Amino acid sequence: MLFTPHVLAGAAVGAVAASLGLPAVFGIAVVSHVILDQIPHTDNVLLENPGSDTYSKDDFISVSTEVIVGILILIYFLFISSNPVPLLIGAIGGVAIDLIDNVPFWKGIRKWPVFKQLHQFHDFFDGAVKKRGKIIGIMTQFLIIVVSVVILMKSLS
Ligand SMILES: [Zn+2]
Repeated sequence: MLFTPHVLAGAAVGAVAASLGLPAVFGIAVVSHVILDQIPHTDNVLLENPGSDTYSKDDFISVSTEVIVGILILIYFLFISSNPVPLLIGAIGGVAIDLIDNVPFWKGIRKWPVFKQLHQFHDFFDGAVKKRGKIIGIMTQFLIIVVSVVILMKSLS
């Protein structure tokens, strides 16, 4: 799943579960990642083709753009929230598994103990829509983004 739905769903977890404390927020946000990955979704080109080392400049630009959009929306909510720390911890928990397991610059760690098992676990729950551009895989993620933003808005009002 893309970065933006994970980061915003994690922040929404932070908003809803803030009273449980930061470790709980982080843990629930990590679980949210595993659950969301099971929903049919379209992945970005780097995740679709993890074995390839021949990513084009355009691939990196499209992926970076999506990541930057997610970060900017998160920063917006951090700024307008009166209690931003749980949102930030939730957001980090929401993307933690991808940050460890899905960044091409350090995908070599997948061969290491623990990280290898994490990768297998991550793969096992992956509901990625394998065909490129499948509209359903975009719609599900758009929906997750909208629901997360609504939860964040409501928690702030
Ligand atoms: Zn994932």
